[in-house]
Amino acid sequence: MSGRGFGPGLPTEGAPVLLRRNGDDLVIDGWPAMPVVAVTHLAASRRGESLLLEWDDAAGRCAVTLDAAQAEKVGLGGTAKQPRHDRATRLWLWGTLFLLIGLPLLLLALAVGFRGVFIDGVTAWIPVEQEKQLADQLWPMQKAQLKLIEGTAANKAVTEIGARLVAAKPSPYTYRFHVAEDRTVNAFAMPAGYIVVHRGLIEKAASAEELAGVLAHEIEHVEGRHALRGMVQALGFHALWLTLTGDLGGGLAGEGARQLAGLHFSREQETAADQGGLARLLKAGIDPRGMASFFDKLAQEQAAMPDLLSSHPASSERSARLLALMANVPRQPPLAYDWLAIRASLIPRDKR
Ligand SMILES: [Zn+2]
Repeated sequence: MSGRGFGPGLPTEGAPVLLRRNGDDLVIDGWPAMPVVAVTHLAASRRGESLLLEWDDAAGRCAVTLDAAQAEKVGLGGTAKQPRHDRATRLWLWGTLFLLIGLPLLLLALAVGFRGVFIDGVTAWIPVEQEKQLADQLWPMQKAQLKLIEGTAANKAVTEIGARLVAAKPSPYTYRFHVAEDRTVNAFAMPAGYIVVHRGLIEKAASAEELAGVLAHEIEHVEGRHALRGMVQALGFHALWLTLTGDLGGGLAGEGARQLAGLHFSREQETAADQGGLARLLKAGIDPRGMASFFDKLAQEQAAMPDLLSSHPASSERSARLLALMANVPRQPPLAYDWLAIRASLIPRDKR
């Protein structure tokens, strides 16, 4: 069987050699000082139609190429092992690929993954007292942009129902409920317990229970520090610095007033507020079905009214999930409010 030999004592382009199998040995003719190699020392690899046999000799690395089909016949290459240097090359290739592509992707994934952890950590680290100071500075700025309605039956209902819901669970915050002259169907929660309900929402609600559902949801946003987390997220390391220096109130307030307007809660936060709100309604002895029916109403109308509770995207999936959760909840007596009178109290005196 003829082949081509490469290695010590042969020209770099190789030289023709004759090979034959002799028991466990491969005998090579035409290669000076290279008569016999044990077959078990050979590393075989297929290169198209030919077989490459490699081995290490005292003088250095040696190789022969021969016709693969012929080699097969004498039992060479049938048990083709990966040559060791091929494996090394492959390892090097994968290593390089990992360094060039895998490692940066891994670092990016870690950075993205840990960004959430970082934001959670900073948010959790902010003392309630600092959060209160921040809110007390934010509120006047927010208030300046609102037209608050005061002294109506709607104010009384919002404050009473809100207080009943707050009392259902211990809280470090002092809540303040406000009604704003705004026809959009919305309500929002600022850090540390400032909750604003738009007139449009009260007009859209069909009962005190529906209003209670929204309030319970907003209270859970406060307890979960969702708005605070949103502000930390927007400010990143700056928030950490402000917390460290104890100037969160002063530093965050200016930025925060702007951030607050564009704040959107995540789907997870909305779900948490829904579920926490449901539990809170139950503890307060308020029938939670109003919560589901109100969000269901929003889901149906949201397509037509893009600004409808825009910071609290409703979906039929969401209200269906709530309904499923409250399927076995016993009904509660209705809240003792004259809902029509409450809605009417919001109509300006001269238009009644
Ligand atoms: Zn929400």
